[in-house]
Amino acid sequence: MGCGTNILTDVPVLKNYIDGDWCDSESKELRDVVNPATGEIIAKVPMSTADETNSAIESANNAFERWRVTIPVSRARYFFDLKNLMEENFESLAQWIVKENGKTIDEARGEVRRGIECVEVSTGIPSLMMGVNSEDIAIGIDEMLIRQPLGVFFALAPFNFPNMVPLWFLPFAVAVGNTYIVKPSPQTPISQVKLFELFDELDFPPGVVNLVHGDVEVANVLLDSPDTKGVSFVGSTPVGKLVYERASKSGKRAQVQGGAKNFLLVMPDADLERTASALMTSCYGCAGERCLAGSVILVFEEIHEPLMKQLVEMARMIKVGNGLDEGIQMGPVISAKAKERVEWYIDQGVKEGATLVLDGRSIEVERYPDGFFIGPTIFDNVTPEMTIAKEEIFGPVMSIMNVKGFDEAIDIIHANPYGNASSIFTSSGKWSREFQYRVQAGNVGINVGIVAPVAHFPFSGMKDSFFGTLHGQGEDAIRFFTESKVVITRWF
Ligand code: NAD
Repeated sequence: MGCGTNILTDVPVLKNYIDGDWCDSESKELRDVVNPATGEIIAKVPMSTADETNSAIESANNAFERWRVTIPVSRARYFFDLKNLMEENFESLAQWIVKENGKTIDEARGEVRRGIECVEVSTGIPSLMMGVNSEDIAIGIDEMLIRQPLGVFFALAPFNFPNMVPLWFLPFAVAVGNTYIVKPSPQTPISQVKLFELFDELDFPPGVVNLVHGDVEVANVLLDSPDTKGVSFVGSTPVGKLVYERASKSGKRAQVQGGAKNFLLVMPDADLERTASALMTSCYGCAGERCLAGSVILVFEEIHEPLMKQLVEMARMIKVGNGLDEGIQMGPVISAKAKERVEWYIDQGVKEGATLVLDGRSIEVERYPDGFFIGPTIFDNVTPEMTIAKEEIFGPVMSIMNVKGFDEAIDIIHANPYGNASSIFTSSGKWSREFQYRVQAGNVGINVGIVAPVAHFPFSGMKDSFFGTLHGQGEDAIRFFTESKVVITRWF
């Protein structure tokens, strides 16, 4: 079982999973895990000690030699079994996401489905990790490339997709023969405990998969250790920069997926009704707490009024509440602090002269007075120099900005330091082609509001939204988690 009970409070205290066993942390520092819809404390999470983190590294390191010689088809079978267990526990995994993160149950189901897709793709590892060879690179000499695992890898995960994000990495890393440590977000650690309960049922050899709770201190032990070979980080850009630097100092591989500010361009020839509906999902899905969430809508003047009308009508209709309740379309943001931060941005927008058309600050949600709710918010007349146009808000705030032409829109997008996702809405092939060709964003949408790459494609990102070379998922993942060893052969 992944939880003990705190004698003083009756709230479960989460355990680490190290060397194939659930273990209590000896740390005196426990943080509250709060259900953001109710404000209720649902678990306590330990900030594990350096010794505990080191014992996970040691266990993963010891497990590596045996795991790497386990043949790929056998390693892949663990992931076939994991897929089946995740399907059996699908609803319960989704409910835990809602309870600790606040998104709606349908959004949580989507998250579990996307995680399962990564597991499914990793079952193809025997062929995915095959090398290549070239006969006769010189007379009588052949050359081949073989992909080999490297050792211990780890993930530092964000709060917003607590089940799925570690699955962007772990199945690929472990299926190619590495061993792994997950450090979940201290705000949403339960979903990983629930996943590790399934790993435990699968009887991986001890040390192949490990879970260590904590925050900066645990991350730093993992980053500084000479025995970890690489890190997959997903989180905010300022933290991502620190992680990238620290990983590089100790010579580790790093793939660092950072924050975002996503611009969506609506051309005059767009299908307005479908576009408005896509913009709703993009800006308000998961309460705007997605790295792929739409933030600034660039609109041509001639369609500004009819589009605005539809957006405001639709946004007003969104039912906000506890994501576990029937019919709820948007949940709370993650914490009281996050709510304050988003409200600060709304205040700032007003101060800097944007027109607040729909104000989510005053929302009251029946039966949940202690939840961290913000209603859908819309600003009009936003200009590029405003704070709400430049910084990542990570909440349900849509900013409308007028543009006069395609080139101006591209310039506005490019002036922003982030480059995670960007979309165009149009019925013109010429403009879509021009957009995909020129836009500096890793994930590009053509009439698509949330550009979430499926598991056999890399989850891209550019500029301040990604540091590294090889992204998570897809073929990039296979290359990130393996060394490309080259062998040149001549027989006398
Ligand atoms: P965060 O940066 O606060 O935390 C991410 C992880 O880093 C957590 O596990 C945290 O414990 C750890 N951490 C915090 N400080 C650290 C430090 N100094 N050194 C090492 N590790 C540290 O991010 P968050 O608030 O949990 O997540 C939201 C952010 O994640 C948003 O900016 C969002 O855009 C981004 N995100 C990006 C993607 C993507 O694919 N690009 C996906 C999801 C979320």
